[in-house]
Amino acid sequence: MLNVALFTMAKSRFQIPLNLANVNIKKIEINEIGEFHIHVSCIAKSCDCYKCGKKITKSHRQCKETIIEHLPIFDNKVFIHVRWPRFVCDNCDDHPTTSFHPEWLGENGECTKDYEKYILKCLINSTIKDIAEKNRTTEERIEGIIDRCISLEIDWNSTKITRMGVDEIALKKGHNHYLTIVSDISIPGKTRLLKVISGRSQEEILPFFQSVPRCIWTSVESISTDMGRVLGLVQ
Ligand SMILES: [Zn+2]
Repeated sequence: MLNVALFTMAKSRFQIPLNLANVNIKKIEINEIGEFHIHVSCIAKSCDCYKCGKKITKSHRQCKETIIEHLPIFDNKVFIHVRWPRFVCDNCDDHPTTSFHPEWLGENGECTKDYEKYILKCLINSTIKDIAEKNRTTEERIEGIIDRCISLEIDWNSTKITRMGVDEIALKKGHNHYLTIVSDISIPGKTRLLKVISGRSQEEILPFFQSVPRCIWTSVESISTDMGRVLGLVQ
């Protein structure tokens, strides 16, 4: 993907790839509290009709501007401003319109999937309250991210894992509510989130480990975890 945010700082400049498909950068503003506001235009020429699922190309105005949170830059918040194009379907009798929704956008349209994964990685060895404070966001938003990620399926095809990490998170201190986070830690410093499981008991996490394809297990050399019962499950 070629869209690149260009920053000029004193006499030096550098580029950061945005890695967001289907958009071109129009302008970047940095406000008084250091937030990056990146205004982009969407170049998508079609989407799938939400009703019949067919590809539709007849454009029908744009949505109102939405503001999407993306990964922070130098601990400053980053927001993408965009107006999604809308397309009308002539296959369906009532000609419904569907807004474009790129692959990289989280389900609720408020943050990118990369941002959601980043928040979940932050949660390892931490709590929702701490991470909400550190990232200047709300506990509700983080809970929403967790809920969406619990239902995500893994694409095992693009995966070769040599080391797995299994961590538990206490969602609320004093409450008996835990998450188990399974990550790919094959490359040092590049933790990749694989699965968020609601709960931490054997019954809750066993279905996930049973669903991991045999070909994945053949490359796994080690599992790092403080959760002794996990090792019993995968032996
Ligand atoms: Zn349709």
